[in-house]
Amino acid sequence: MTDERLERDFYLREPDEQQAFLDNTWCNQCQEMDLGMTDPVEFEFKGRVFIEGRCQRCGAPVTTEIAEDDDIDE
Ligand SMILES: [Zn+2]
Repeated sequence: MTDERLERDFYLREPDEQQAFLDNTWCNQCQEMDLGMTDPVEFEFKGRVFIEGRCQRCGAPVTTEIAEDDDIDE
């Protein structure tokens, strides 16, 4: 495992999935969820996958961790 960010291509995802990730956000600046994000960049960091973008309302950076649909029941 590495400490580096591995860039992934967000746009390889299904359009529906892309839209869902763009809609389901949490903005620390606005303290509100689901404001939406722009300029999404997907990356992997320490084995976890994130999408980073900008809050559609205030432009602050927002990061969403993606829960991969593996067979992990928690
Ligand atoms: Zn915001």
